[in-house]
Amino acid sequence: MKKKAVNIRVFGVVQGVGFRPFIYRIAKKLSYNGWVKNIGFGVEIHLESKKASDFSDFLETFEEEKPPLALIEELKVEPAANLKLADFTIKKTETGEKFVFISPDISMCDNCRQELHTSTDRRYHYPFINCTDCGPRYTIVKALPYDRPQTTMDEFEMCEDCRKEYSDPLDRRYHAQPIACPVCGPQVILRSTAGKPEISGGIPEAAALIKKGKILGVKGLGGFHLVCSALDHSAVQRLRKIKERKTKPLALMAHSISVIEKYAHITSVERDYLLSARKPIVLLKKKQDIPGIAPHLNEIGFMLPYTPLHELLLEHIDLIVATSSNKKDSPIMKDEQEGIEALCDFILTNNRPIHMRADDSVVKIVEGKPLFLRRARGYVPYPQKVPEHLKTSSQILALGGELKDTVSVYKNGYVVTSQFLGDLDEYQNFIYFEETISHLTRLFDIEPDLVVTDLHPDFHTTRYAQKMGLPHLQVQHHFAHTLAPLLEHGYAGDDKVLGVSLDGFGYGEDKTAWGGEFLLADYSGFNRIGHFKNISLPGGDLAAKQPWRMAAAYLLDCFGSEFPLTPSMKKLDPKKIKGVVEMIRRGLNSPPSSSCGRLFDAVSFLVGLSPLEVEFEAEAPMRLEAASVDGISEFYGFDITVETPNAPRAISFTSMIKSVLEDMDAGLDAGVIAAKFHNTLSRVILHMALHAREIYQVNTLSLTGGVFLNRRLLETSVQLLEQKGFKVLRPLYYSPNDESVSVGQIAYALAAAKNQSL
Ligand SMILES: [Zn+2]
Ligand SMILES: [Zn+2]
Repeated sequence: MKKKAVNIRVFGVVQGVGFRPFIYRIAKKLSYNGWVKNIGFGVEIHLESKKASDFSDFLETFEEEKPPLALIEELKVEPAANLKLADFTIKKTETGEKFVFISPDISMCDNCRQELHTSTDRRYHYPFINCTDCGPRYTIVKALPYDRPQTTMDEFEMCEDCRKEYSDPLDRRYHAQPIACPVCGPQVILRSTAGKPEISGGIPEAAALIKKGKILGVKGLGGFHLVCSALDHSAVQRLRKIKERKTKPLALMAHSISVIEKYAHITSVERDYLLSARKPIVLLKKKQDIPGIAPHLNEIGFMLPYTPLHELLLEHIDLIVATSSNKKDSPIMKDEQEGIEALCDFILTNNRPIHMRADDSVVKIVEGKPLFLRRARGYVPYPQKVPEHLKTSSQILALGGELKDTVSVYKNGYVVTSQFLGDLDEYQNFIYFEETISHLTRLFDIEPDLVVTDLHPDFHTTRYAQKMGLPHLQVQHHFAHTLAPLLEHGYAGDDKVLGVSLDGFGYGEDKTAWGGEFLLADYSGFNRIGHFKNISLPGGDLAAKQPWRMAAAYLLDCFGSEFPLTPSMKKLDPKKIKGVVEMIRRGLNSPPSSSCGRLFDAVSFLVGLSPLEVEFEAEAPMRLEAASVDGISEFYGFDITVETPNAPRAISFTSMIKSVLEDMDAGLDAGVIAAKFHNTLSRVILHMALHAREIYQVNTLSLTGGVFLNRRLLETSVQLLEQKGFKVLRPLYYSPNDESVSVGQIAYALAAAKNQSL
């Protein structure tokens, strides 16, 4: 129906992204009077027309031209009183409601890129050019409301020209809080580390040093990268030595898509991700190997320059290693004072402080959809809406697990999850964890009335929560994993789902280490209906570092103490194997576990693909996946045992291990065995899904846990399940690894709060 005036309320990430000036411009262009203002959660627009109108021209232009950083969750149009206003204005923000959505950091936009390369522009070659459509956000905001004095740009006073742009609603930089120019803004500084000859210069000189084989610490958006020439093998090896990483893959930054195409295959979806405003690292299939970058793997991680500074640097050199500046297991460095000097030859820094550190996000594309290995810069702090029936008035803080941790907060129907924080057993990471909690709670004005953690009594997160003096909920690790995709996909069904949660380790309800789990679950609870058969972890934590220990444990379980040795086992000192066998038989430091990660380790070692000792988590499984041959549909047998009618089903891989050894004796290629192994796991998942359908009428599955970062396993499982009519939910914008545990913890806490069980 046609009206003379309407009120439009838009909810989502619409503040600090140039939304109000955008509305101002289209209202002016279409000759509407009225106003626009920020409200809690969003923006309210009042439009008046001289003739009765359905305002469709406004809504269409709005849809077509909305700012690239805006994320619209909801739009409501309501009739309003005609106030006969004479103009369209931007109203000042009223203070009060502080819960607004802050945009993530976003890479340079096309308009800024054009100015950067225009020699007559006043920001020509200025490495900190930005506008309302692009630039730093999450990493420079100190508090809300999002205004310049509340960012790390507060120490730079705007020059006359910048202030004019900042104050003009028709300018692209109207209220662009990080606005800067060569006259008034941050500057780059190139310098040597202590004890080396001084140096002067900027980006071109830095590039020249990289070309000469030097290692540079380069300050970007969320911290320092360590940078060297990707094609200079001795520089790469030196960088590896400094980082204490022999084999862990290093990320590359390339000048352009055409540079990447020399070394990797790119699908159209992968290209979209590489070029997107968020500019994550995208794992791509190798075309031509670059020695020392991703040894033993078939994928390699590339990103494109995302800040003007990176863009200018890559004008001079096509391809660089750009890896987080940290020593093993510490957070990315954000200030020079944190010890960057010890890691590099020269430093390309700048005087714009980083408030919140954030690593680069890492993603791969599986079946056309994202699969995150690490979710950080460019994606944090995007809010996640929760299903309507779970909304509560509580404010909740979830602390996650211990390894690959994140924290999540809940308020007013939305969850915000932090960037990847790392392993909290490292002191520096724990400090980062505390920094992040205070950042998120301040940013979203949250005073939690409930804290959620893992069940593990010894996790730092559990102990931290115990000291908070708040009601404290604890959620089993794999149950939390299962719930995260349910929340993400807005699952609101009454039916239970089958959570298939496969990872390295999580504390079980029976106090053993779980990791190959089949959980019949809804938001309020779960029933463990199946799991991988328990196998001893000889040496406890050492079993995860030395895959041969798991190989021995599986062989002992299959054959008894006189087990046959594969060629890889024969290379070991027989006394070592004997020691492990004794350990298991006497039950010394050999806890039982249903871990799926350790099964991968065992098979990877048996077929000769795993090193004796791994350098990083999942190294042995990643090599097994990388070696797998395409086009194999065969799989091995497995056995299901049921001890008592109500006990969970135990899945035994004894017959599979025996067949693997037979295949090896018959001279079958390790890559074929690896493929058959992956197929077997997918068959196990299908078997359990059909069982759950038959007994519990389950038709929806949640596939989670770090093991599902395995492309081959995920693709094959989803295909098999969908052929049988199952609906499969898997994480899209959260990693299936432990980064999503805090998300699942929130989901459970919401249900618990609803059920009044608190
Ligand atoms: Zn821009
Ligand atoms: Zn200026």
